Amino acid sequence: MLRRYLYRCPLCRTTSPVRFQLDDLAAEGNAHRQTIHGGHIPDDEAAGQIDRLGRWYVALTPLVALHAHLADALSDLRDPKAMGHYWWASAGATLTLGGAAALAVMFISAAL
Ligand SMILES: [Zn+2]
Repeated sequence: MLRRYLYRCPLCRTTSPVRFQLDDLAAEGNAHRQTIHGGHIPDDEAAGQIDRLGRWYVALTPLVALHAHLADALSDLRDPKAMGHYWWASAGATLTLGGAAALAVMFISAAL
């Protein structure tokens, strides 16, 4: 599955373009630190994976993150390099989660 990453510098209040490789993300951060901050590491800098809506995965609750992963994967089928979720991908992710929850409820109630 394609992954998207961002580097954010809180001092400059800038965010990198979307990167698709961890190596590129590390290079982005290193280049910024070297050229702008003389190699120093800005306090509270952030680097990590985002979903197609540009949301940091670490900031999402587990259920929302799961939905984002599913909607990302479905949207990537149509256009892997673009951002945003297609409506059918969001709906598909919601249906998948809803179906899984319904299955879990069925299994639990069958076991009782
Ligand atoms: Zn900076």
